Amino acid sequence: MNTLRLRSVSAVLGIALCSALLAATGAAADKVDARSRAIHESLLTLDTHLDTPALLSVPGWSMLDRHSVVADGSQLDLPRMIEGGLDGGFFATYIGQGPLTDAGRAAARDAALVRLQEIHQLVAANPKTFEIAYTAEDGPRIAATKKRVVYLSMENGYPVGQDVSLLTTFYKLGVRIAGPVHFLNNDLGDSSTDPKGPVWHGLSPLGKEYVKAANRLGILLDASHASDEVLEQLLELSKAPIVLTHSGTKAVYDHPRNVDDEHLRRLAAKDGVIQIYAYSDYFVPHPHPPEREAAIAALRKKYAGQRSRAQMEAQTRELAQVDAKYPIPRGTFEDFIAHLLHAVKVAGVDHVGIGLDFDGGGGVAGLEDATDYPKITARLLKEGLTPQDLAKIWSGNVLRILKKAQEAAAQDPAG
Ligand SMILES: [Zn+2]
Repeated sequence: MNTLRLRSVSAVLGIALCSALLAATGAAADKVDARSRAIHESLLTLDTHLDTPALLSVPGWSMLDRHSVVADGSQLDLPRMIEGGLDGGFFATYIGQGPLTDAGRAAARDAALVRLQEIHQLVAANPKTFEIAYTAEDGPRIAATKKRVVYLSMENGYPVGQDVSLLTTFYKLGVRIAGPVHFLNNDLGDSSTDPKGPVWHGLSPLGKEYVKAANRLGILLDASHASDEVLEQLLELSKAPIVLTHSGTKAVYDHPRNVDDEHLRRLAAKDGVIQIYAYSDYFVPHPHPPEREAAIAALRKKYAGQRSRAQMEAQTRELAQVDAKYPIPRGTFEDFIAHLLHAVKVAGVDHVGIGLDFDGGGGVAGLEDATDYPKITARLLKEGLTPQDLAKIWSGNVLRILKKAQEAAAQDPAG
């Protein structure tokens, strides 16, 4: 989830807005030839940042039904995963940063527990279709049975509040990737995008305990959204490699959410992996014309607190009208490819993967929803990458370091 300007309203509102913008601007078709499609289908394909769980509580919205970006703004469901040859991924429990108070922390904890419960309910109700993956080995095993692979992740450490032992609870519920921060600084450390700038200059003392707890459990630490200082300290302190589940490269587009070459090299030197997102605001300049902002604010107010499929659809239509009236530049599939290829060039093919941020504000022209994943395979083959390279990018790299995190935890005397 990356929709800063919508953080104060419901997740659904944020999702619908961004997706409506995507739908309105159309897509450049990238043809997928039969050989590329066959290679794509042969690979274990995992996206490391899927915000779709935010939709599970919407009355009338089902993961089993086919939806569309144009109709309701959503970007992923079972039929579209099948069409897009996506075996699964890391389904995020995203909790936006709220007040650093006891009440705020407790509400974040409870919201995370509810969201995890919803994901478990989906899987339990459809045991022939989905399976929760707990280990690095589970992903390939589950995909071989033709079920969708559901790894769990947590975006923002806010739900642990000031008690990192809660990470054990989340681990027991299946969380295998967790990041300390989101858009704003919190009890654990500094965000890359807090307008106030750094308060801890990296991780807080509690954040360092969070790192130890994650290492003991075998949870991969996620440095997406974290400040550079946090990334540096994670690389220094963590006994396991670090992942960035959804990020981009600063050399291609200079934004605080993107990572510079020096940090990419340091990440790779510790065997870490950067998963590239498809996020327009971090690919191209994002202007804020006042008329557009006012129209969006009015819609935000109109739909605040509303959560049904019919409301999602109505809101998506109205947002598309706003976008048509006040268009702004939008990132493209070509931008995504440029970030990915740059990361491969600098960090190496063993240290790059894919985490598009669908249903969290992700999606660019030409990479609109889950049906578009095969375009990535086709294009990377055209760029000269081999099927072996693609196997790494599509899952091999992240599962390699998840395995390392789990092995390091198994050897931890305190574990
Ligand atoms: Zn995010």
